[in-house]
Amino acid sequence: MLLRRYAPLAALVCFACASAPAPVIPPAAFLPVPAGTTAAPAPVAAAPAPEAPLSALPFSPVLDAASMDRSADPCVSLYDYSCGGWRRANPIPSDQASWDEYSKLTQEIQRFLWGVIEELTPVSATRTPGQSKIGDYFAACMDERGVDSRGLTPIKTELDAIDALASVHDLAPLLARLQLSAGNGLLFVFTSEQDSDDATRMIAVGSAGGLGLPDRDYYTKTDAKSEAIRTKYVAHVGRMLALLGDAESAAAQESETILRIETALAKASLTRVDRRDPYKVFHKTRIEALEAMTPDFAWPAFLGTLAAPSVRVLNVAQPAFFKELGALLHTVPVAEWRTYLRWRLVDARAQNLSAPFVAEDFDFYRRTLRGVPSPPPRWKRCVRMVDDQLGEALRDEFVHRTFSPGTKARAASMTAEIEREMDTDIAGLGWMGPETKRQAKAKLHAIVNMIGYPDKPRDYGAVAIPRDDFAGNVARASAFEQRRRIAQIGKPVDRTEWHMTAPTVNAYYNSHLNSINFPAGVLLPPFFDARDNDAPSYGDTGSTIGHELTHGFDDHGRKFDARGNLKDWWTKKDAAAFELQASCVMNQYAEYVVVDDIHINSKLTLGEDVADLGGTMLAYAAWKHATSAAHLADVDGLTPDQQFFVGFAQWACENSRPEQLRVRAVTDTHTRRRSTGSTALRRTCRSLPAPSRAARVGRWCDRRAVGCGERRSARSEAPLHRRWSLLARSALVRG
Ligand SMILES: [Zn+2]
Repeated sequence: MLLRRYAPLAALVCFACASAPAPVIPPAAFLPVPAGTTAAPAPVAAAPAPEAPLSALPFSPVLDAASMDRSADPCVSLYDYSCGGWRRANPIPSDQASWDEYSKLTQEIQRFLWGVIEELTPVSATRTPGQSKIGDYFAACMDERGVDSRGLTPIKTELDAIDALASVHDLAPLLARLQLSAGNGLLFVFTSEQDSDDATRMIAVGSAGGLGLPDRDYYTKTDAKSEAIRTKYVAHVGRMLALLGDAESAAAQESETILRIETALAKASLTRVDRRDPYKVFHKTRIEALEAMTPDFAWPAFLGTLAAPSVRVLNVAQPAFFKELGALLHTVPVAEWRTYLRWRLVDARAQNLSAPFVAEDFDFYRRTLRGVPSPPPRWKRCVRMVDDQLGEALRDEFVHRTFSPGTKARAASMTAEIEREMDTDIAGLGWMGPETKRQAKAKLHAIVNMIGYPDKPRDYGAVAIPRDDFAGNVARASAFEQRRRIAQIGKPVDRTEWHMTAPTVNAYYNSHLNSINFPAGVLLPPFFDARDNDAPSYGDTGSTIGHELTHGFDDHGRKFDARGNLKDWWTKKDAAAFELQASCVMNQYAEYVVVDDIHINSKLTLGEDVADLGGTMLAYAAWKHATSAAHLADVDGLTPDQQFFVGFAQWACENSRPEQLRVRAVTDTHTRRRSTGSTALRRTCRSLPAPSRAARVGRWCDRRAVGCGERRSARSEAPLHRRWSLLARSALVRG
């Protein structure tokens, strides 16, 4: 779905932990390895998952001794020590680009929901309205023969409308119609967002879009791999146009035109690093000024077709993009816009059409770009689509079967404990002055903890879902969601809204709402087990809770105040101290290699890296306080502290295809904890009083105290050693 590819909320919401189930491309994260070392090759041949629904979610312990590799040295790589067994036992399934604990649980939840939804498929008077929507949507999606028999018919009306476009001046209302059904961002993103100047109100926002490749850098880079991908992309575009009926020679020429338009848009788009700066994507602009940037675009007709409330002032998030769009609308002939729109439409809708479109779409976006050998089975696509388009209707179906009030209460109490640790931590920060501390605490105390699911799920009553029109259902659900967001323009902010569904295996901090959100899906084993030994749950979910909290104070989150206004509440001195320390983290992560010779873009991942480090330290401190009076036992030969750190590290067990790693090196803000694991252990050890190190973390700390893993004699490690030493002295969040 295009909607997710260009989801404007990505700019607002910082997703914590990768692997959010997406309709097409379930993301995973890359495995950074220290420069100069070689990652163990990931096993890739896997038998496909059994094709049957699950009647219950399988149980996996939060700390799984069988997933460890005790031959690895935890002082050198906590990740290899904790995950070596898991990586050998969990080759990447043939329909996945990567495979990790998150995607594994996501797939188990999908198989579980498959059974639940199938039971709702037969028409019955006992179904609730929400159950009817889910069941009928799934039935229509699973009707593969019906979908194939319709061929291009579902988008025929829209293709005819594009063919009838006689003038660029008529493009605006057509684009509005296309974006409603095919997804926001077809040419640019237009929706609502919280006003960064006034956290109580929603305003309209326009931002960049219009690209078929995963990032603007794919159009601008000149290395051989990037050139090769562009060549394959042009060929893919040509084949899609041929499926629409264009002659092969014409399609080849058209695809070059499309690349030219997209390249111009890409060059005018901000980089991902720039988009992380909230000031660079916030430009309150009068609608007349936007019209002046794009004089050939009929904004009143566009807004009217969307039934948008009155828009006098909006956030033009990327003015340079709209200026370039204005220039293109003036110079590119209307025939070329028709070509471009036909491609954008079929690209967005390919997965809802017949088998040839689905296959060609898979061949480029999954096989070529991400190295995936086989498409997913249809049931999996359909479950994912239900969650993506009608996900809040799944709330009760999922929560009632999997998420107990006891689990919710324990997650809430652990969150409160970790928040108390952050309060203590802020009070003790040596580098932060009293005024900034006062503001930081006010922000911390204002954070809203949202755990499990929304109190009021969305009502999908307005979406017509016949049982025999899959593509139509997708278009109507897309239009429903976009109209819902557009209707919020000018309205008060709904502070109860969630941006993930209850079954989602992920979590996020929302800097505008100043909330941390943990869907039920991420609060299940193997991440969290309220009944089990607490140490690994603190290490895993506790670190995730701390991670989200820390986002409120990372290089992005710290720019928003307690209510979510974009407002500088730091003294100049404290801001400078923060930037200095953040630069240490950034320099450290820049040392790590993702794949080939591609290093982590640590300017892009800085917020996640800071959150990973800070979150772990907070979780560790919270666990120590919670268990200070308890007698904790060794388990599987691990001290309680070691259990914490193995639980923490096993969160990140993962195998990835190299193609996927290359995509994520450009697009992903997460580095995951392969590198963070050892760093967090190192920082924790340094923060402990020397006499208690051995008692707490055993020999891991003993060795660490004399420089475990730093290998001072190894030339490649020396810069890291210096940075880690600096980090230890100036911890952003102290252990
Ligand atoms: Zn995060």
